[in-house]
Amino acid sequence: MQAPAFEAHCSLDAMAHRAGVEPTHEFVAGVMAQARTVNVTRVITVGDTLASSAWCVQAAHEHPDVYAAVAVHPTEITRLTDAGYAELERLARDPRVVAVGETGLDYYWDRTAPADQQKHFRRHIDLAKRVGKPVMIHDRDAHDDVLRILREEGPPDRVVFHAFSGDVAMARACVRAGYVLSFAGVVTFTNAPRVREAAASVNADQILVETDAPFLAPHPFRGRPNSPYLLGQTLLTLATVMGIDPAGLCRAMARTAYTFFGFNLT
Ligand SMILES: [Zn+2]
Repeated sequence: MQAPAFEAHCSLDAMAHRAGVEPTHEFVAGVMAQARTVNVTRVITVGDTLASSAWCVQAAHEHPDVYAAVAVHPTEITRLTDAGYAELERLARDPRVVAVGETGLDYYWDRTAPADQQKHFRRHIDLAKRVGKPVMIHDRDAHDDVLRILREEGPPDRVVFHAFSGDVAMARACVRAGYVLSFAGVVTFTNAPRVREAAASVNADQILVETDAPFLAPHPFRGRPNSPYLLGQTLLTLATVMGIDPAGLCRAMARTAYTFFGFNLT
């Protein structure tokens, strides 16, 4: 990348576990060094359980280029107690935490009843508002319910849809509401024209880019372990479908990093 870029959503601890190693200080330092070789200079590492969220906060304290997001994922939510929410709030108030997430609804995996997911999604939205931080949304096959619940609760000032998977109509609804869309490697897949059309319908100051590592690596690296250093392919695809130059897209995203999450890219 010709300008510094940042990874808006990955799970560094899950990357280590997938690789069969411990998520040590050295592991994270290695991932960050590799990312920096392609000018990816910051990452947000996202927790999906209380333990994973606590790990993310610690990693963000140990590495100046790592920021954390904390939450319990919708598919893990039934184990979250009131005491767990108190611990989650303590983590969310940490200065190295830049978002409450990922939270939302997942109707793809048949693990948690929609009613339970919706109840906990509302509690996470409330938490984000009380700590004054953005909410980072996981939305899988649940577009209408996610938008409805945000509307009913009254959304926080800043909302980002991670791994955006909607079509043009959904993208327009999000942008009208002031939400930011974060695109993952799916935009590079030949079988995902609708997500590319959605990206083409929004402005550069309304999007972010992520790998969602360790999950699906972008084309042509599918099947390889995903990592923040693979962000560039997704960024280039986005720039192409949006008809703007990649450096300009990086600069727009750097401005969004500052206004949305409160950090600078260097
Ligand atoms: Zn997710």
